[in-house]
Amino acid sequence: MSGKTSKLYAIVHAKCPHCRRGAIFTGSLYGWNIQHTKEICAHCGQRIEIEPGYFYAAMYVSYAMNVIEMLIVSFITFLLVGPLEDNTFWTYLIVIFTGCFILYPVNYRYSRIILLHVLSPNIKYKPYYDKV
Ligand SMILES: [Zn+2]
Repeated sequence: MSGKTSKLYAIVHAKCPHCRRGAIFTGSLYGWNIQHTKEICAHCGQRIEIEPGYFYAAMYVSYAMNVIEMLIVSFITFLLVGPLEDNTFWTYLIVIFTGCFILYPVNYRYSRIILLHVLSPNIKYKPYYDKV
């Protein structure tokens, strides 16, 4: 089997934007090993943290994701317990905090993936590297 790896596949599976083969992170999304961002792609040698502090920009992506997630979580809470009132206040608070906590690894990972794949025009996909 040959051919290109799709961008969607590379994004979902956290692959390097340059070769779409190498993993961007060490460790798994939910696991005992805390995930870290690799400095260099093991497959093609692309620097993943292009320059020092590059991933500060990922904080903005992460923030936007957080806002969207909290809106979704709030809406689900609304469907389950009704509008935000005095007697549902703590339910809302606990659900939203738990949601943020559970989604933290997802935000960490996908904010960086979005930054690398969508917001980094300097990193171009090179099909040449997209083979085993
Ligand atoms: Zn790579």
